[in-house]
This record gives sequence, structure tokens and C-alpha cells, in this order.
Amino acid sequence: MDVYSLARNCVCWILALGLMASGRVRRARKQAFTSGVVTAIYFHKPNGRLFARCVEWLEKHGYTFISANDLVEWLRCEKSLPPGAVWLSFDDGCRQLLRDVLPLARDRKIPVTLFIPSGIIAGDGLLPWFHANGGESNTRHTFRVDELQEVAAWPEVTIGSHTVNHTITAGLAQDELRFEFGESKRALESWSHTGVTCFAYPVGMFDGAERPALADFGYGLAATTENALVTRGLDPYRVPRFSVADEISFLEAICNMVGVWRPALDRLTQLLGRRPTSTVWPHQIATRHDIREQTKVGRMLA
Ligand SMILES: [Zn+2]
Repeated sequence: MDVYSLARNCVCWILALGLMASGRVRRARKQAFTSGVVTAIYFHKPNGRLFARCVEWLEKHGYTFISANDLVEWLRCEKSLPPGAVWLSFDDGCRQLLRDVLPLARDRKIPVTLFIPSGIIAGDGLLPWFHANGGESNTRHTFRVDELQEVAAWPEVTIGSHTVNHTITAGLAQDELRFEFGESKRALESWSHTGVTCFAYPVGMFDGAERPALADFGYGLAATTENALVTRGLDPYRVPRFSVADEISFLEAICNMVGVWRPALDRLTQLLGRRPTSTVWPHQIATRHDIREQTKVGRMLA
């Protein structure tokens, strides 16, 4: 970990401690156990120690792990779930999951959903933003197809689509949307030998025009990065998830998992006279402005 990350984590650790001491974490956790709500949490590539501690914390506090299928059925009112149900998902299919997450999930029988950009898995395994650094890296960032095939056969693992090339779907034309939803589904199903019915919007951006194409291809759920609990009867193509970042302290991860972290951070950034993080890196319905910003970021990274 570099000096900047270390300093960042120290400051964030103090903020997390404050959120715990103020009772905000406890209140948010209580809310997660009220009827008619489910907690959805997503990661990218947490280190093994952080992920294990998160799982232990959720278990210790009485959460019940559920699969994507459980969530879809619950949203359709076809199934009931115990209070404190929690759905874990992982975006991008990063290699580290093979070592740091999946063995533990298998041992403890924890259902996990992996959202996979199919074209990147089948290609050079480099996520778009890594091409930024001159593309000098020869090390894959994602699974290979054979690795995906292996884990997809595990009963704990559900495979979902994350488009073909990690393409932001907001602002795409219908034929482009159909390619991203249809082709990724076709490839992932051919590798996993099971139906692929859930989807996660890359970088959490969407504009609502995705709906008809998602429905046509038989997707039952589309996950966003909106910071909220999932409530019953909610639009299945707008399922919010709390984000847990990769290299953070365990205390910060707890604040992430109950959803108090981002609002606190936004308030703090506002106090400091900056734009809140969720505006810079939008997690809800994309506006034209957001798409422009995102494209700028994408171009910078590309
Ligand atoms: Zn992603």
C-alpha cells in the first residue's frame, strides 16, 4: 500500500470510528432487519482478509446470505426471506477472486453473484481503464474462460452479465444495447451451461432506455450502484447495492455494508466545498451531464 492510500485509510478510519460511535451504524443495521428490505452489497476485488472479516461480521450480526435467484423471486413476491437477508455480488470478474473470495464462499456455502464482461474474459483480460497506463501490462486482470467455467459449476456461484466490453449502457442506441445484453448472455450461458438472468450496469450508469432490451433477453434483475436498501416491490431493473471498496480498513467496510459511508462522505465533501463523490462518479440515473463527465473520464483513462 502506498503512502497516499495509507494516509487516506487513516483519515477514513477516524471517520468510520465516528460513525460507529455516533450510533449511525447500529441504527442502519437495525433498519436492514426490518421487514420488506434486503441488503445488497457489491465488491470488486477485496483482499482475502478483508472479505473474511466482512463475512464474519455479517454472520455474527445475524445476516442470512441469499442468492440472486432468491432475490428475484422475493422481488416478484414469489418467496419470503428472513429479516437481515443479504446478497453479495462482485463486478468485473477480477482474478483475485479466485484466491481471495471464491474458496471462502465455497467453504462457507455463501451464495455469490459474479458480474462478468464476457468479451474481456474471452479477450486479453484487461479491463478498459488499465489500458490507460500505456497498456504495458501483460498480466490479465480478469479470469480466463476456463477458470470461469470451473467456478460457474459451483452451486454457490451465479454468473451475471456485465455487458461484453464493460460498456456504459446509458446513452447507447437500441441495437448497441441489444448487442451488449444479447451477446454477453449468449457467451456466458455457453460457458456456464446455465441461464444468465441478472445484469449489473457498468460503473452503475443507466438511463432507463435499457429496459425493453433487458426484458427481451429475459433478464430478471439489473443491479445499480445506488446507495440504498432493496425494498420489496421495487423496479427489478433498478436494484440498489452498497459498495465496499477494495483496500480499506475493516471499520470503513462495516460503514460501507450498512450504507452509511457514502452519505457521510458526501456530506463531508460538501462541507469542504467540493462536489460530492456521487456527482463526480454518478451512481444513479445518468443525466446528459453525467454521461459527458463519464465519457471525459473514460477518455482520460483510455
Ligand atoms: Zn464494472
